[in-house]
Amino acid sequence: MSDDPRHALIVSGAAAYPGGVVSRGSARERGTLVVRFVRARWGYRFRGRAQLERWQRRRVARHLRVHGARAPFYAPLVGPGARFDRIPVVDKTATLHRFDEMNTRGVRLADALAVARQAERTRDFAPLVAGDLTVGLSSGTSGRPGVFLVSPRERMRWAGTVLARVLDAGAVRRLLLPWTRPLEIRFFLRAGGHLYESVRSSRVRFVFHDLLEPLDTHVSSLAGSRHPIDVLVAPASVLVALAARRVAGDLPVAVRQVVSVAEVLDPHDRDLVERAFGVRVSEVYQATEGLLALSCPAGSLHLHEESVLVERDPLGGGRFVPIVTDFDRSTQLVVRYRLDDVLRVSPLQCACGRVTRVLEAVEGREDDVLHLPGESRRVEVFPDTVRRAMAVPSVEWADWRIRQHGTVVELALLGCADEGAVRDSLAASLAALGVHRPDVRLVPWPSEDPTAKVRRVARVVA
Ligand SMILES: [Zn+2]
Repeated sequence: MSDDPRHALIVSGAAAYPGGVVSRGSARERGTLVVRFVRARWGYRFRGRAQLERWQRRRVARHLRVHGARAPFYAPLVGPGARFDRIPVVDKTATLHRFDEMNTRGVRLADALAVARQAERTRDFAPLVAGDLTVGLSSGTSGRPGVFLVSPRERMRWAGTVLARVLDAGAVRRLLLPWTRPLEIRFFLRAGGHLYESVRSSRVRFVFHDLLEPLDTHVSSLAGSRHPIDVLVAPASVLVALAARRVAGDLPVAVRQVVSVAEVLDPHDRDLVERAFGVRVSEVYQATEGLLALSCPAGSLHLHEESVLVERDPLGGGRFVPIVTDFDRSTQLVVRYRLDDVLRVSPLQCACGRVTRVLEAVEGREDDVLHLPGESRRVEVFPDTVRRAMAVPSVEWADWRIRQHGTVVELALLGCADEGAVRDSLAASLAALGVHRPDVRLVPWPSEDPTAKVRRVARVVA
């Protein structure tokens, strides 16, 4: 295969492989993947936080010196004597506004958007911008989506990291033994998933499942697999749907490993999926903005501090909004980028020996936090509090949604025999938190866009 980057990513027809599009990276890109795989699996061992943080500072400084200088927005900010803490914190709006100057390839926002929209419209993930870059849109519920560029090399690093960190020992053995069949990974992704549509080699076979297709199509594709599925990767809500189909007997195929991505995995859902497939679920906390956390063999979700520097904008109660600098991305620079997720980390070091911080909770987005009136001040109710309040003893439900409109909390329930009991229990929990006369109302189940992230709790801004 040619080394010309324009030929580096050849996408085969969907017909060639059941389940969707599979692409083949060039030899050089596969090399990138292997190097990253080895480093992420067996390397990056730090003796303590201090050593990790020193290493991060050096990596960030070098990253800005080399790549920052190639992006017009950052070039004047990273010269000799420049200070990291003087670089402005940016958010989605600022990043869209200065998009053309924040990437190192001179890609214009209009061109990137045109390519992304074409890819989503045609479900053809081949369109590229500037020769070899794929474009991802972040799924926002309000305002314009964020736009992110990824080069083939960055994609391979991403795949190498995820594989290295989530595969269990059995899967890695299969990957390394040339006489066994290739490791098969089934990947469910929402629109814009072409960022991650990735690798095919003699050792790994990625099969991409497009979530715009009906679930039945995916179930028959999975059930028709001639051998066990080594790794099943999907958003939490899709795993729950597949678990239900498995319990119903529609998915007799064995699944060796299950990985949850893109959405918050509730303890309730985790339990459901683990019981259905009989394996433990690993988690990858992935935003379009970057790979933010991965779970470890001890079952903790670690911040991906081997690639991302995480600063904190504190919200109180140990919660914070992360400001991330990704020193692995050199096409579109992600420097002091303020996400709109609310996180909580543990002060303790994990039993697995990694010194990177352990996430106690990904509490969803800032607009997933309910703002309700108290006696004298506003009461903030965080999504994990709501989730705990919904675990009403003795009342079963299949699923629920909560939307705040003004001071009204709308509750929709699916498969619940006693909706009144759940409503009353939620109101009592809110009152216990200091909410003044909580106004909880039952509403019919809403219709939802199958390609949007599932959000159980949201504050709807009028
Ligand atoms: Zn750990």
